Amino acid sequence: MLLIGSHVSFDKDNQIYGSFMEAMSYGETTFMFYTGAPQNTRRSEINKDKVLMVKKEMEEKGLPFDKIIVHAPYIINLANNKDSDKYKFAISFLKQEIKRCEELEVKYLVLHPGSHVGCGIDEGIKNIANALNEVLVDSSVTILLETMAGKGTEVGSSFEEIASIISLLTDKTHIGVCMDTCHMNDAGYDLEDFDKLLDDFDKIVGIKYLHCIHINDSKNEKGAHKDRHENIGFGYIGFDRLIKIIYNDRLKDIPKILETPYIDRLYPPYKEEIEMIKNKKFDKDLKDKITKE
Ligand code: FE
Ligand code: FE
Ligand code: ZN
Repeated sequence: MLLIGSHVSFDKDNQIYGSFMEAMSYGETTFMFYTGAPQNTRRSEINKDKVLMVKKEMEEKGLPFDKIIVHAPYIINLANNKDSDKYKFAISFLKQEIKRCEELEVKYLVLHPGSHVGCGIDEGIKNIANALNEVLVDSSVTILLETMAGKGTEVGSSFEEIASIISLLTDKTHIGVCMDTCHMNDAGYDLEDFDKLLDDFDKIVGIKYLHCIHINDSKNEKGAHKDRHENIGFGYIGFDRLIKIIYNDRLKDIPKILETPYIDRLYPPYKEEIEMIKNKKFDKDLKDKITKE
């Protein structure tokens, strides 16, 4: 089964069941959500009934519940500790986020490593590792460090930086990596020969750490360090390269998650993009079609 999903919403009433229903309406086999608004840290209590409903319905449909992904809010920054209150807050919020994932019975939590904001890449890496060492004690959730575009002072835009963070962790059982195709393109990686990229990743980080891949096209050229996602086939990576990545046999068991932009900021493109992916055929009129519906 092709493990394809997208970022879906999570509201305080329907919670994971609402996320699941949205994913189903797009024809997805997996999905990813934030447990609240990604730009803030207000969160509601987890409703266990909704979790049981999703588990039951996914089982009936033969879909793997254990591939669902949660994304941590992107305001958590573990890379800078100049403001110790902020750093401590980020750590405690991440601990709560892990607890929420445990209640949701979701195994994977994607996290942006953070921005060092001037303290330097080596300090940034140490700050992230120290925070993770604190957070990962008794965690049954696996934190997936996302590969970043290298915008501003972002840490984690190279496999070497990701590997350095992991090397500093005392317990590596609950750490992993989430690749992002837009970010890797913007960071300067060549996505044309993805098997070679996976070989490099395996040598530097270890392929066993890879548990999720975000599938996005990019509005910018390779190496632009920008991080602006584009709809599948409409950007600089292009449809054919993304299709080859999605259908790469080595990524068969890894959930592929679209985080492509809404059309005109209003219309989710996921149903149509997933259709294109399933047909392996690019539809250049996709955006017009969606806005006319
Ligand atoms: Fe992300
Ligand atoms: Fe991403
Ligand atoms: Zn991004």
